[in-house]
Amino acid sequence: ARGLGRELVIPRDFYARIAARHGKAPVKVRAGGKVPSGVVSKLKGLEATKLLFHEDPYMRVFKGRVLKVIGPYFVLDQTAFYPEGGGQEADTGYIALDSGELFKVVDVQKVGALVIHRADRELPSSIEGSYVRGEIDWERRYVLMRHHTATHIVLGVSRLVLGDHVWQAGAEKTSERARLDITHYKPLTDGEVRRIEDLANKVILEGRRVNTFYMPRYEAEKRYGFTLYQGGVPMEPTIRVVEIEGLDAEACFGTHLRNTMEVGAIKIVGVDRIADGVVRLEYVAGTKVSEYARRLEDRVRYASKILGGDVVKRASSMIRELKDMRNLINNYRRMYVSLYAKHVKEGLESFKGVRLGFFTPEVVDHDALKDVLIKLTRDVPDSVVVLILPREGGTFVEVSLGVRARNLVSASDLVKKALVRIGGRGGGKVDHATGFIPRGLSKEVRSAIIESFKEVLDHLLS
Ligand SMILES: [Zn+2]
Repeated sequence: ARGLGRELVIPRDFYARIAARHGKAPVKVRAGGKVPSGVVSKLKGLEATKLLFHEDPYMRVFKGRVLKVIGPYFVLDQTAFYPEGGGQEADTGYIALDSGELFKVVDVQKVGALVIHRADRELPSSIEGSYVRGEIDWERRYVLMRHHTATHIVLGVSRLVLGDHVWQAGAEKTSERARLDITHYKPLTDGEVRRIEDLANKVILEGRRVNTFYMPRYEAEKRYGFTLYQGGVPMEPTIRVVEIEGLDAEACFGTHLRNTMEVGAIKIVGVDRIADGVVRLEYVAGTKVSEYARRLEDRVRYASKILGGDVVKRASSMIRELKDMRNLINNYRRMYVSLYAKHVKEGLESFKGVRLGFFTPEVVDHDALKDVLIKLTRDVPDSVVVLILPREGGTFVEVSLGVRARNLVSASDLVKKALVRIGGRGGGKVDHATGFIPRGLSKEVRSAIIESFKEVLDHLLS
């Protein structure tokens, strides 16, 4: 659009919006919407929460003064609980009151400059003004920090492997796995995925420092460029920059490790093209890698048990056996087709100038029966062949007319009229038609079908 005097403005979260529309998991564009408006309206006048998780992301225990209690919601003057945001899930944990009573913290959201905690039940409003002791679920948080830092590494490395056009279109870090959606115009090859994984693990082993600092926005933009804004453009004049030395720098709110070595390892466990120009990478980090390996191991073991031996050996021998069986079946099928066609031919009876027959084969092999019908329409030009077959929930009828018979009567017409009279329906073409009766195939149903066809045919041919 440049040069036309107008500039096309593409919102920074353009790709995130696409990913949100096409992705399996929703991309969180904005957090905080999970706090009821009735609670938000009561928060006016409170001072900004001091973010202890930024001062020290390794802080597990802290003390905070209760500024406000609204049912199960509460606000402290400072907190180590990370609120959901930047694709990172909220912390969980508990708080202890002076009385010793414990409350679980089940959700944490950010509303403006405030961090809103939600307890598992209503808190007494009398605790406003007093101190509580908070402790976050550290095991869970540490996994989130690993997955979050891993996401910066995977993004930086993807740019190195695929090119500078790679941009974060969305990201999510849960305690189970992490995912990163990147802008890339074609699916990734196995080789590219391996290179990304290998390089990511190399960055981990190199033990690069992860630095976090605040900078005036314009200065940060000058130093790092607009790739800073992978998660959207912040409004503040001062931004929080998270830098993995020599690899990646982003404006980011999340909690990170101090050193890439702490990630332990990265394993990419899924690659998917979720939209035109957006590729999703899913990966696990740290101890989750061995959990993932264990699950794979279990599956392989289970598969081996079913197959009765080593998976690879058994699978290749089974494929050989399957091929042999298929050849054998094809030979039998050819034999069956010629035998059954002969049987049908001999079973046809003269009826009003055509050769009519009703058949219910013992073996319902649709491919073979199709071949039988094709063969008959050529071999017996005035044939009217009606197959009556059992089918789930009723009886299936298939009619095929020889090349001359179809000049006398339409198969579609015949099936429709014959079946409607006995509670069924059907249709098709002049030479071939099918129908269905919602009654199981029995002697009576079979006779009713034959009677009806004969009467309709008698009428149509007169
Ligand atoms: Zn981050």
